[in-house]
Amino acid sequence: MNNQTLFQFFHWYYPSDGSLWNHCAEQAEHLKWLGITRVWLPPAYKSANGQYEPGYAVYDLFDLGEFDQKGTIPTKYGTKDEYLKCIDALHSKGIGVAADIVLNHKLGADEKETVTVIAVDDEDRHHHRGEKHEAEVYTKFTFPGRKGKYSEYVWDWHSFTGAGGTHQPHTIYSIISEYGEDWEEMVDDEKGNFDYLMGSDIEFRNPHVRDELRWWGQWYLELTKIDGLRLDAVKHITPSFFVEWLDFLRNHFQKDIFCVAEYWHRDVNILLKYLSALGDRTQLFDVPLHFNFYLASLRGNEYDLRTIFDNTLVQVRPDMSVTFVDNHDTQPLQSLESTVDYWFKPLAYALILLREQGIPCVFYAGYYGAKYNDIIQEQEVNVDMVPVQHLSKMLVVRKNLAYGMQRDYFDHPNTIGWTREGNDDMPESGCAVLITNGTAGEKSMEIGNRHANKTFIDITGGREEKVIIDENGFATFFVNDASVSVWIEESKATVIN
Ligand code: CA
Repeated sequence: MNNQTLFQFFHWYYPSDGSLWNHCAEQAEHLKWLGITRVWLPPAYKSANGQYEPGYAVYDLFDLGEFDQKGTIPTKYGTKDEYLKCIDALHSKGIGVAADIVLNHKLGADEKETVTVIAVDDEDRHHHRGEKHEAEVYTKFTFPGRKGKYSEYVWDWHSFTGAGGTHQPHTIYSIISEYGEDWEEMVDDEKGNFDYLMGSDIEFRNPHVRDELRWWGQWYLELTKIDGLRLDAVKHITPSFFVEWLDFLRNHFQKDIFCVAEYWHRDVNILLKYLSALGDRTQLFDVPLHFNFYLASLRGNEYDLRTIFDNTLVQVRPDMSVTFVDNHDTQPLQSLESTVDYWFKPLAYALILLREQGIPCVFYAGYYGAKYNDIIQEQEVNVDMVPVQHLSKMLVVRKNLAYGMQRDYFDHPNTIGWTREGNDDMPESGCAVLITNGTAGEKSMEIGNRHANKTFIDITGGREEKVIIDENGFATFFVNDASVSVWIEESKATVIN
């Protein structure tokens, strides 16, 4: 079986010009060549901010760029027809598509309502500030531009656990309804209870909400033919909802729908707790590994590379881990900014792409680069993310050569390496990888005697010597200062160009 590789086809600052669906469709052939097996597309539904927001400020789940709402028919990424064509283009190349599913909250309500609320402390959501009282909140969504097409459900305060104050915008109100006075149960106690993230927070204890979201999921998958899901912000959603929702969709469509969820926490034990609550119905992004990469990139040669996988999901649950280096939330200027420093990115990508464990996810800005600016504390800040060095070569090595038994040499604090022996399904597959955060080094590693007497070269071009594998399947491989070298059989070098 071929290696699976995900590609996140957007970044936070992708231009708001409605071009992304078309751009992605045009890239389908190239993505296939790179070995991408599934593309993660951004939220496709109408945002409260029309075209000027990446799609996480969801207004109308049923408006995929079809209705004149929030000042625009297309979303930030294009029209519904362009979205469907993009999915078709990817499918026609045998590439799966994962849709970004944002079900924690809604923003941009059409009407205010007066409801009974209680204000809570931002840092401890169980801590009430004052007494119950009546307040105006933005909780009524009637979608006047859609006029009941696909669904006549009107979201009102019964559909939400909480909302932001209209007069005091930073106040978080818990809404008192027939579904309870308190938040829904989460797996962790961050902020006391982190059910509320932003906007109007969806109330999953309301059976009408669950019915509506089941119908929406069925409608969405039937219409778009997508075959994968990326669940947004699951930290803020009661896990029992996704147990029910994923079972419904998988039973309804009688197929195993790929699913990966974003639970943003650096403690692997919390991620394991979530997996257990979901009964392994979804994979998770390996957030702890991202933070290890981030730390390693900051500490330089003071970081012990032998510990790079310590306390990560891919170490304890490789079968449930989707590994990544950066994403739209960690890129420069974003809310969770923790961008892995440039010198370390090629090393980090080698660690996710060329090993056996986990399904790696490549970030758009890492591959294509990204130039953008934003206003931060009233100052315009310009960012130029250059493409990660050697990324396309490593992707093609993953696709064609990174197979078979893995032998690890995590035996020096500054220089680690591993080999892949290759297998019979992929002719002449196999590779050797060496990484250092210190000065140039070398390491004797076994790659297997199927490669005896063969010549290996470093496809990054960093090392120019040729390495001959001895009759026992061993060789000494080399790496330059603070870099990665990727060794493949010389005769296979043509596949990567
Ligand atoms: Ca929530």
